[in-house]
Amino acid sequence: MADPMTPEEWLRALRAEGVTDIVEMKGWRTNNRNHKGLWGSVHATMIHHTAGEGPGLPRLCFDGTPQLPGPLCHDYLDRTGRLYLVGSGRANHAGTVAANAYAAVLNESAHHPAPDAAEPIDGNRRSYGLECENSGAPGREWTPRQYDVAVRVQAARCRVHGWSANSVWAHREATRRKPVDPRLDMNDFRADVAERLAHAPGWNPDEEDEDMPSRSNPKVKATPNRPGGQWLTVPLTGGLVTGPADYSGTVFLRLSGVPAGASIQARYVETTNGERSKTGAIVEYSATAGDTFLGVTNAGGHVDSRAELGVEYIVFDDADTHGLVGGQAQLLFWK
Ligand SMILES: [Zn+2]
Repeated sequence: MADPMTPEEWLRALRAEGVTDIVEMKGWRTNNRNHKGLWGSVHATMIHHTAGEGPGLPRLCFDGTPQLPGPLCHDYLDRTGRLYLVGSGRANHAGTVAANAYAAVLNESAHHPAPDAAEPIDGNRRSYGLECENSGAPGREWTPRQYDVAVRVQAARCRVHGWSANSVWAHREATRRKPVDPRLDMNDFRADVAERLAHAPGWNPDEEDEDMPSRSNPKVKATPNRPGGQWLTVPLTGGLVTGPADYSGTVFLRLSGVPAGASIQARYVETTNGERSKTGAIVEYSATAGDTFLGVTNAGGHVDSRAELGVEYIVFDDADTHGLVGGQAQLLFWK
């Protein structure tokens, strides 16, 4: 049981739900059939396909035809995921609907039965309607973006009215006149609406994947004539990781001109506001003949909040200078 939303309430709800590509068709706020029949209270939100595709469909949805005057829906969603606001109020989208189908959305039943032949209910009074651009041909998939926005639109309506996802129905679930409208698995669709409703309105599932690490792969800048006997920062083409973060990986270095057998130590180091705030465990190497390759590894590191992770090393050879030839970081981190 719900009074229909005002146009402003609907716009607010859409934006809160993360629907950003919205076209307000001129006059949509007052485009309705309220002079021909009742509008509300509303109990459901229907999803349709257009059974055709093309750039003229927003206009057709707004104006309708002489036989079926517009608006033909409340909103029209094209294949790019752009949402056109078409009407607010009673719209010619559902027609009459079966009582058993209506009872299912009214009672928010998880089971949506095949519709009865008799259609005693005025669907245009009781349900919102979203039209989606799809030919309805077998194998004609909805675009991922279009599907995502369709879920957001229907979730936005449910959220405003405090409905569950079982208030979402397909035109084909409401009447036998439309057996493939739309060609979607409605139980999957309702599950996606329900998952969205379980989160805050601005939820973006793609950004939520906290288990997946990010990569940090800056290169080591070649630096000749470095002195021995002191800790030297490894210059990188970009930052490694800024905390707070966990990390795992290795920074590879190639040094030239270190006498064979000379000792080299290396470690991770953190700086906060330019000050050294933490150093990691020291790893020790022995220089080889020719260039020396070493990898500074930490398989379970943590960078403190606001700290910058870096690497430093020291060559125990006061007599000579050496060269930092190059290298690269291969680090994964979790924010
Ligand atoms: Zn339909």
